[in-house]
Amino acid sequence: MTKKISVLGSTGSIGTQTLDVARMHGIKVTALTANHNIKLLEQQAREFNPKMVAVLDLGFAAQLKIALSDTDIEVYCGEEGILNAATEDSCDTVVNAIVGVAGLLPTLCAIKAGKNIALANKETLVAGGSIVMKEIKSKNVKLYPVDSEHSAIFQCLQGCPENSLKKIILTASGGAFFGKKRKDLENVSVKQALKHPNWSMGKKITIDSATMMNKGLEIIEASWLFGCSDEKIDVLIHRESVIHSMIQLKDNAVIAQLGVPDMRIPIQYALTYPERFFSPTFELNLAEISKLTFYEPDIETFACLPICRKALRNGGLYPTVANAANEAAVELFLHERIKFLDIADIVCEAVNSFSDDRKDFSLEDILSVDKETRIRIREKY
Ligand code: NAD
Ligand code: MG
Repeated sequence: MTKKISVLGSTGSIGTQTLDVARMHGIKVTALTANHNIKLLEQQAREFNPKMVAVLDLGFAAQLKIALSDTDIEVYCGEEGILNAATEDSCDTVVNAIVGVAGLLPTLCAIKAGKNIALANKETLVAGGSIVMKEIKSKNVKLYPVDSEHSAIFQCLQGCPENSLKKIILTASGGAFFGKKRKDLENVSVKQALKHPNWSMGKKITIDSATMMNKGLEIIEASWLFGCSDEKIDVLIHRESVIHSMIQLKDNAVIAQLGVPDMRIPIQYALTYPERFFSPTFELNLAEISKLTFYEPDIETFACLPICRKALRNGGLYPTVANAANEAAVELFLHERIKFLDIADIVCEAVNSFSDDRKDFSLEDILSVDKETRIRIREKY
């Protein structure tokens, strides 16, 4: 393949799977970035020989520079280093696999530099959807979804006439605590919350799956990607994670995309679109699975889901606040400073107490509301 990609967050769950796909199809890697984990980043750099690597942490970057001193690979550090990787000259597509709102600025800089985006970093669209979509249009670049649900919807939409979409049906595994009620969740541990039934992912998104904040973020992500309002996006619990999402068209025909739960399928499609290449993933064996089950989501127990809908309906900076509150709360929970149910309470409190009806705002406004929200929560707990 002639594609040249920069992989932001290359040491994470999506990042390493992206490199699996790149390895398989001979995709050239032009830049790699990570937050710390420099041992793995060094290995990746030696294998893929990118033009540059960047590490957020300055100390780790200095160590990596020494480790790679026998190579021609340039080593950059800090946020600026990550932005260098996002805008590297020879790259045509940036795979954004950074976790959290830290991915927003790199996405925007990459778009401004004329790069196509393969987006796993859903927080980019949740916090900054309006300005990201505006830039995508003005620069005439492509945005390919990597998130499995959004990739599924994108795949289902191929060949559908414009304006034929009636609604989106986002499927959700239900996470680690499906079927539980609030009283059952009062004292659950970090370890229990990190046990996802079907997917192996980074810690933040695994907690987001357990609270169902992940599905709330995905509703907002879908609204930007496919231009749908909140009432046109349904959520359906589907424990087996075989149907990755569905669309319903005007004539009530429903189209679904199925496959084994392996992120290399949506990652690869984002990089090979519209072509289909060989994949080493398992084939789906429906006879073996034998039964697919579906349930309505429990929005009383999993309050993150309805609060994200509210944030989406309010629009403006409300989704930015919901996302920032969640990132701060998940970090506190992972450090055992708050309980599991506090995560949803913190997100709800942040959205319900926010009062700002600006519809016209800048990147600086987004970043400052994000920061203020986090600071307020960290000071309280
Ligand atoms: P992860 O924690 O496994 O990896 C995150 C990567 O980003 C790492 O390389 C880390 O070093 C880097 N990073 C972390 N903080 C950073 C910062 N502040 N600045 C720059 N780099 C930073 O996360 P993941 O599970 O791979 O998820 C990445 C993104 O993809 C998230 O937005 C997640 O919601 C989304 N996503 C993940 C999956 C999955 O299966 N893991 C599925 C769908 C969507
Ligand atoms: Mg998803």
